[in-house]
Amino acid sequence: MPTNRPVRVRFAPSPTGDLHVGNIRTALFDWAYARHTGGTFIFRIEDTDTDRVTDEYIAAALDTLRWLGLNWDEGPEVGGEYGPYLQSQRLDIYAEYAAKFLAQGDAYYCYCSAEELEARREAQRAANVAPGYDGKCRSLSAEEVSAFVALGRKPVVRMRMPDGETTFTDLIRGEVTFDHNFVPDFVLARGDGSPLYTLAVAVDDVLMKVTHVLRGEDLLSSTPRQIRVYQAMGLTPEEYPAFAHLPFVMGQDNAKLSKRNGEVSIAWYRDAGYLPEAICNYLALLGWSPGDDREDVSREEIAELFTVERVHSSPARFDMKKLEAINGDKIRALELDDLLARVTPFLHRDGVIEGTAAELAVVKLTLPLIQERIATLAEVSAMVKFLFVKEFAIEADSLPKVSDEQSQSVLQVALSTLESVADWKHADIEAALRTALIDGLALKPRIAFGAIRIAVTGSHISPPLFESMELLGRERSMARIAGAVK
Ligand code: GLU
Repeated sequence: MPTNRPVRVRFAPSPTGDLHVGNIRTALFDWAYARHTGGTFIFRIEDTDTDRVTDEYIAAALDTLRWLGLNWDEGPEVGGEYGPYLQSQRLDIYAEYAAKFLAQGDAYYCYCSAEELEARREAQRAANVAPGYDGKCRSLSAEEVSAFVALGRKPVVRMRMPDGETTFTDLIRGEVTFDHNFVPDFVLARGDGSPLYTLAVAVDDVLMKVTHVLRGEDLLSSTPRQIRVYQAMGLTPEEYPAFAHLPFVMGQDNAKLSKRNGEVSIAWYRDAGYLPEAICNYLALLGWSPGDDREDVSREEIAELFTVERVHSSPARFDMKKLEAINGDKIRALELDDLLARVTPFLHRDGVIEGTAAELAVVKLTLPLIQERIATLAEVSAMVKFLFVKEFAIEADSLPKVSDEQSQSVLQVALSTLESVADWKHADIEAALRTALIDGLALKPRIAFGAIRIAVTGSHISPPLFESMELLGRERSMARIAGAVK
């Protein structure tokens, strides 16, 4: 465990797709730990699996972290003393260590083919023995090696796991021990010399002077292998990074969160109009708590309050409803200009506005009417588009609600009533319609105003009706009501 070294924490994803909820929870905790301790937050891209990690996913990962405000001190784009921070640019470093481990006798060349390994695994399963490499190539004779070479076999580099066990203290789980009977000799580099995750991650954590590895629990079992690499690099236990394995994030059905049981991609949440501060707030609560049953935390407060001691070891359950509620709270807390700036790209995207100053002025007047009612930014488009459409039409599923006899008479009375409203202000519009329809015809407000809402906005969901009519203006409001009258 590192003592008195300046804290250095890394987030090291392998972007084989969009970063998902679990990745970002890890990134947030890494960032928060670094910020809380005044340490350094390193962003490293683990892209040695070149078939699956693409430039596009790497760019998206950078963009996602930036969007969430998880700024990094060292990594892609910002550089740093221990770069490069893309593993694909560090291949000779890993090759050098693989060669060193071979020379020291910590590792050996293994010539077993994939088919041979599979056949032996099959036999292990049949005999009920722990599966894993059986050590066949540990001590090949010179003749055996020549025979493999003559066959044209390209060996992998395999790490020798000594008998015994590995024990380390996980900051969340306490003491963890792995019996090496269950940690077979493992591959460091493929036949073509390219490194595997275990080699690259361990070498980089050492060379980048990482002091704390906070990462998902799925990587717990990889820790004894990484420790074996540290040993081969000549480190003493005091020089290893400390490990903290974060609890799993489960779906509502208690299975591990995945595409199958929830939306996992952070890009999806961004497109759906979730605020970065809401995502940070919600993800912070997945496995950690700020204390005092508190659930509303800003990014800055997470950094201020975060300690590993407050991370639970039991799995956390992802609750979409709760995220949505937090998002709604964060939206309500926004200043009007800020809300406008965040909503505008959605209105553009959805083709609601072109972005003229006149349109934005109308949006700005509308937002206070709906700020209390929305849970995501993406909902705004549907709510305000009636103010901007060139060709107005009532939504198909709402049409029946204005075509029945009662609605038709409501609309006719509304039309004639509105003729006499002198000042087109929402209070006056409301007063006139109430007098005519509620007092005059003894209708329930829901019935009377529901029909007018659909006639004017085209939908049964809209901002408050009378304010909507004021914003839309007399001419357009009345033309739409007239249009809904058969
Ligand atoms: N690159 C690994 C992954 O995305 C994580 C590495 C680590 O945190 O140790 O699964």
